[in-house]
Amino acid sequence: MGGTIAVKASDDGALHALAAEDLAALAPGSAVELETVDFAIGSSIALTGNQLLRLAQEVIESIERGAEGVVITHGTDTLEETLYFLALTVPRGDASVVVTGAMRPADAPGADGPANLAAALAVAAHRPATALGPVLVLDGLIHTARFAAKVNALSVGGFGSPAAGSVGRVVEGRASVWLTPAYDDYLGLPDAADLPRVELVRMVLGAEPSALAATLATQPAGLVIDGFGGGHVPPALLGVIDEAIASRVPVVLSSRVGDGPTNRSTYGAPGCELDLQERGALMAGAISGMKARLRLAVALGCGLDVAEVFPLD
Ligand code: ASP
Repeated sequence: MGGTIAVKASDDGALHALAAEDLAALAPGSAVELETVDFAIGSSIALTGNQLLRLAQEVIESIERGAEGVVITHGTDTLEETLYFLALTVPRGDASVVVTGAMRPADAPGADGPANLAAALAVAAHRPATALGPVLVLDGLIHTARFAAKVNALSVGGFGSPAAGSVGRVVEGRASVWLTPAYDDYLGLPDAADLPRVELVRMVLGAEPSALAATLATQPAGLVIDGFGGGHVPPALLGVIDEAIASRVPVVLSSRVGDGPTNRSTYGAPGCELDLQERGALMAGAISGMKARLRLAVALGCGLDVAEVFPLD
């Protein structure tokens, strides 16, 4: 899927340079038998909903054809979104699905891509990993799709699971799984060429209704509002939220904090969760705004009742 793991320096800056087969050669000695596929070339900042849908289909078909594991190399900028999308759309089964990437270009001193890929292959070949659903493997740690997040823009240990911790590790080429999730994020794979358009709007102190109103005017299929703390908005925005709900645009409140779920039953002031739910908004629960956006899009694309898929505990 491209990304920093596959780029090298050029006169025009670091650009895509390694095909899947070249990447596979960077992880020599792996005991697994590999089939390589070049799926999307370039930076993950340019990925689209259509590509996510096609990727999930490709993963499902690879598993149906007999793959025991699928490793996806991916740019780190949007990695956690693709990872969560796969958790929403690929049924958990007998095959492992592992996403990895790199924080340093392939030709940089101390490039981390080969080590990350070798660790990802070790996890993909480790049977207990199939119980985890799609996971991120980076810097020797295994992170689940629900909680994996890019927590540092540049360091090699740039990913974590702030709300839950990692669930396993790779040491000396051996994968260990310590914990398995007691939940499953799977909803289904929309049978469509594109995802319903769900927009994400972030709250800031003193936000005026204008940005949210302008977004609603574009007639999105759904809105996720990345709110303060436990999922709160300035009271000045409540009129736009009422308008969205009255025009049947589902509104989901996430937390902009990045660690910790939204509230459900504590605060009563206008703009807080009791008021928002009373107006018909849904709380995201355990997932970040960017993952709530994908969950809402997949739920809408599968024709599911959105009130059944939020909040997540
Ligand atoms: N811009 C790159 C990407 O997401 C960054 C990376 O891979 O780390 O494709």
